[in-house]
Amino acid sequence: MADVKIEDNPKILSGPVLTNSPNAVLSKTLLSRYNDLPLPADKIIATYIWIDGTGEHLRCKDRTISFIPRVPKELPVWNFDGSSTGQAEGHNSDTFLYPRAIYKDPFRRGNHVLVMCDTYKYNMEPTDSNNRVNCQEAYDRCKDEEPWFGIEQEYILLDSDLRPFGWPPGGFPPPQGPYYCGVGANKVFARDLVEAHYRCCLFAGVPIAGTNAEVMPSQWEFQVGPSVGVTAGDDLWMARYILHRLAEEYGVIVSFDPKPVQDWNGSGAHTNFSTKKMREDNGIIEIEKAIDKLSKVHMKHIKVYDPRGGKDNERRLTGLHETASINDFSAGVANRASSIRIPRSVAEEKKGYLEDRRPASNCDPYAVVDALMRTCILNE
Ligand code: ADP
Ligand code: MN
Ligand code: MN
Ligand code: MN
Ligand code: MN
Repeated sequence: MADVKIEDNPKILSGPVLTNSPNAVLSKTLLSRYNDLPLPADKIIATYIWIDGTGEHLRCKDRTISFIPRVPKELPVWNFDGSSTGQAEGHNSDTFLYPRAIYKDPFRRGNHVLVMCDTYKYNMEPTDSNNRVNCQEAYDRCKDEEPWFGIEQEYILLDSDLRPFGWPPGGFPPPQGPYYCGVGANKVFARDLVEAHYRCCLFAGVPIAGTNAEVMPSQWEFQVGPSVGVTAGDDLWMARYILHRLAEEYGVIVSFDPKPVQDWNGSGAHTNFSTKKMREDNGIIEIEKAIDKLSKVHMKHIKVYDPRGGKDNERRLTGLHETASINDFSAGVANRASSIRIPRSVAEEKKGYLEDRRPASNCDPYAVVDALMRTCILNE
């Protein structure tokens, strides 16, 4: 432990070092004076949200509409400058936003909405980071199997100096152990942000299933789902957007990096998956069939389980810290050191779901859900 310093991790100290987040310094009460302003009843603000060219980060912009949108198709297609987001060349930069899912806006409330979009090039081909199109296509062909996904999103909070929030300057907190599901001011940091996120997600219509403090101080988890098919991707991306957006107000930074600090637990996006047949009596047979199929295409899945073709997960899936090695496929009941875990309760009831523990915290859930449907249901 002594020879490892946070400074050695380029992920943590890359970027400008600020002593104070400008956001944390701004007044948090002034806006309430203007939030009270009565707006014209026919003016509704829609925030269009999309994944940028990194496949990992989100962008958003707002527009006024004059009706309450009920389904995404009612909302106008919009565009943005793709050359500023890594999604187009400068000379042909108009990139298109297609609304795909609508949520209530927990920040503005009222009839205002958050809109999850996917992105298309000038010629209406999906952009390179648009994994939603394939996911939708796969889901359309296996709808009848009712694929459900529950994703456990782990993340850590960083201070404005890009070190884990609340960690002693230049050093480490006492070793991991007391922090997971911890209680107490020396065990968990920023529970108020986590609580705000939980409530905002429920208000918005994101089916958040729960939350807990994780193994590293300032590492947290929330679960989204079960959501059906491609909707699992919409729901998780929207939950991430709400978290980033709230963290602006608190003046902390959310990192979905899968291994922010060496020798401590990394962050994953365990993906719990079931089909109708798996949930029926003796569904364990279907679960075992799916695991057998997954065992044959391990590396194919690893390639889409983080935004860098498996590179990010190399740092995380070491075989230590409740992970299985990135090079081997394994499955087991209640085994947190395997690629796939069958929860104890599922083994006992002989039905339910499996947990794919491989996806990294910064994965694109559209790509993960897509791969699981194609391997386990569509036999591709
Ligand atoms: P863990 O024990 O691995 O920490 P969690 O309780 O954090 O598990 O998360 C379990 C997730 O599995 C939740 O998001 C839950 O909604 C989801 N889940 C439960 N049943 C199913 C199912 N039949 N199919 C898919 N996901 C499910
Ligand atoms: Mn402009
Ligand atoms: Mn969990
Ligand atoms: Mn966890
Ligand atoms: Mn898990």
